[in-house]
Amino acid sequence: MSEGSPRQPDLILVDGQSAPLVDAFKRRITYLRLSVTDRCDLRCTYCMPERMTFLPKREVLTLEELYELATGFIDRGVTKIRITGGEPLVRRDIMDLFVALGRRIGHDLKELTLTTNATQLSEHADGLAKAGVKRVNISLDTLDRAKFERLSRRDALPQVLEGIRAAKDAGLKVKLNAVALKGTNEEELPELIAWAHNEGHDVTLIEVMPLGDVEEERLDQFLPLDAVGEQLAKRWTLTPSDHVTGGPARYFDIAETGGRLGLITPHTGNFCDGCNRLRVTATGQLYPCLGGSERVDLRAALRSEAPQLELAKALDRAMIIKPEKHHFRMDRRGDDPAVSRHMSMTGG
Ligand code: SAM
Repeated sequence: MSEGSPRQPDLILVDGQSAPLVDAFKRRITYLRLSVTDRCDLRCTYCMPERMTFLPKREVLTLEELYELATGFIDRGVTKIRITGGEPLVRRDIMDLFVALGRRIGHDLKELTLTTNATQLSEHADGLAKAGVKRVNISLDTLDRAKFERLSRRDALPQVLEGIRAAKDAGLKVKLNAVALKGTNEEELPELIAWAHNEGHDVTLIEVMPLGDVEEERLDQFLPLDAVGEQLAKRWTLTPSDHVTGGPARYFDIAETGGRLGLITPHTGNFCDGCNRLRVTATGQLYPCLGGSERVDLRAALRSEAPQLELAKALDRAMIIKPEKHHFRMDRRGDDPAVSRHMSMTGG
């Protein structure tokens, strides 16, 4: 990949500066979640069907285009980029993008990070650390190998645990994300949290969201986290934490484990007020809201005659259409998904 050096700010200028991204609700956008592939080596039952239809490869942006796109966002004041997917580490030569973007950390980028299922992390942890990545989010829903296989339809827990260990050994700060699933990992959550905290990793629990069709009824998967929080508070001393990440989680310190617990509750507590993020798919479609269908085509802008100008215009448009909040519903059996895109396509 010929990434070149950081480019000059784009053409939209306010007082000599690139105009920051501010939406119609005066939320300043500083965080980009950039999906580099919608493909994944797992098939988690709440995320996608076993026979998933993936985006045609020819429609996916090249690594050079992904870098150019990231540059367009950085020029408009985005300071944090999370590489995601699908599973980002299954994309060929993806480390080249980490290296290229990593060169900008400390200049116009504050943080480069990724979300991964960790199956390939033992191979890449050192490279990520060298590229300047300091923290990784790793998805782990269970520590039970048979349950992991049922849930992800792949027998990959040993690989994942090796990947988590490799990240720690490489000096990466690990945060574990677990989707709370009724009747699946419900009983195990305290054990998962205790294990993670003992390993020095914070944990965030996430309510399942109605994104894309899966084989199971969403309502059967849904475990409201307010109830989980109450159960955990009977076992441990949970103190609301003032830790803020700019993300949607509310945090608690657990006195007995010495670790931090985050709760992401799109259903039992709307989190959109402080939304500072945008998501871009691997084909360059910008979705200003995970739970909405509004989108802007950045690939067309990138491939136009005047990519910088068209990209800047497309980002302005995204600021106009970013909705105030998501409209997930999780109260009716048999509903179509709120959003037909799977999380693996939009970028988790
Ligand atoms: N492959 C990477 C990983 O596993 O972390 C990144 C992409 S994955 C789509 C990002 C996160 O989305 C994972 O933590 C996954 O568990 C979560 N996820 C997928 N579908 C979801 C859904 N319908 N509701 C809530 N979380 C979901």
